[in-house]
Amino acid sequence: MNEKYDYDVVIVGAGPAGSICARYLAEKGVKVLVVEKRQEIGAPKRCGEGIVVESLEGFNFDPNANWITNKIHGFSIYSPNRKRVSMSWNEPKGWIVERKIFEKYLAVDAINAGARYMVKTRAIEIMKEGEKIYGVKVENMGDKFEIRSKIVIAADGVDSKIAKSAGINTVNKLSDYHSGFQYEMAGVKNCDSKQIHIYVGNTVAPKGYIWIFPKGERVANVGIVILAKESSDKRRAKDYLDKFIETHSEIFEGASPIEINAGGVPVSGAVETFVHDNFMIIGDAAQLVNPIHGGGIVLAMNSGNIAAEVASEALKEGNTSKEKLYRYEKIWRETIGVKMQKLLQIRMVIEKLSDDDFNLLGDILSGEDVTKLIGGKYKFVLNMLVKNPKAMLLLNKFM
Ligand SMILES: Cc1cc2nc3c(=O)[nH]c(=O)nc-3n(C[C@H](O)[C@H](O)[C@H](O)COP(=O)(O)OP(=O)(O)OC[C@H]3O[C@@H](n4cnc5c(N)ncnc54)[C@H](O)[C@@H]3O)c2cc1C
Repeated sequence: MNEKYDYDVVIVGAGPAGSICARYLAEKGVKVLVVEKRQEIGAPKRCGEGIVVESLEGFNFDPNANWITNKIHGFSIYSPNRKRVSMSWNEPKGWIVERKIFEKYLAVDAINAGARYMVKTRAIEIMKEGEKIYGVKVENMGDKFEIRSKIVIAADGVDSKIAKSAGINTVNKLSDYHSGFQYEMAGVKNCDSKQIHIYVGNTVAPKGYIWIFPKGERVANVGIVILAKESSDKRRAKDYLDKFIETHSEIFEGASPIEINAGGVPVSGAVETFVHDNFMIIGDAAQLVNPIHGGGIVLAMNSGNIAAEVASEALKEGNTSKEKLYRYEKIWRETIGVKMQKLLQIRMVIEKLSDDDFNLLGDILSGEDVTKLIGGKYKFVLNMLVKNPKAMLLLNKFM
């Protein structure tokens, strides 16, 4: 140990959760440091880079051409028999971002608001006196030192080691993980670049899906998630994706990867507890990811925002106990968490569907119905299925 730092808050991880949290804390006058193990914020990405425009409202930053690579005006979902259900909007409702630039922008905003950052600095473990957390031990290019803080916030992503070192279990059962694999590909063709394209079915992606998110005219993120436990057949997510690319030569003939990304997605809805005395968990570290499609950028930012609000209040009152910080978890569970629980229920139903079921749904659902289902409007879709004689066989899976 050769150095000591003192902060109100130290955040581990400069992803979307950590940087938004740092910005809001700094704006409230809190002395905050973010430590990031990577040498470059945002790289390499582990992400399809899709964001719903509406969900970013309220974060108070302007859409920026430097990080928005494509505006999305609709979606197409393909069932195993290649039937397409689609929906289009006049106004773009989605963006494909250049995440490496987007994350740096979030960090720049936080630094401009007064936060400090240390990159290439890995948090090794939580520091405790008895049960009392008082900071983190970090390592920066061979030097190890301690950073003291009144609150530590774990924003270190899936399987948070920092939460584990604080005594909170963030490891899931395999059935609550998606394994993800993605190529960013150039030379993609015959694929409407104003839409995102989703392919479902157990032969394509068991209990998951394949996506094509166009980043521009001929460049797209082409990725897959499958339920981790489903890979017991020894085929990995990559194998399914390679097969898909091979069998869709009309899109991929002549295309090549320019980047490979892989990573796990926690789709459990949330960890058991988000707080401890002097300690909070946000973003993927707390498994705050959409249980159906695994999107988590904006949810991570939402959790960072709420955590910052609660932490700054606790610091003002000089009480950073678990009971005080629990308000963050309570707000989450009573608002966004309610929707996440509904989506988790829908995920369980979708996982029961066979390829024939997907084909049938492809026949009877419209793009609007799919939007409602993915948006958690379960009852609406149930009522619609009840009214459709073809769907009677499916109903027991949805009940
Ligand atoms: C293949 C794939 C595709 C995806 N596609 C999408 C998508 O299209 N849209 C979407 O919304 N979401 C998507 N997601 C999910 C999304 O990427 C995450 O939900 C989001 O990144 C969560 O943000 P976060 O800040 O919580 O964590 P992260 O972005 O994972 O950031 C955690 C940060 O902590 C750092 N860190 C970790 N350990 C330490 C340590 N010990 N010390 C210091 N720093 C540390 C990491 O380097 C990282 O920078 C995808 C995920 C995968 C795997």
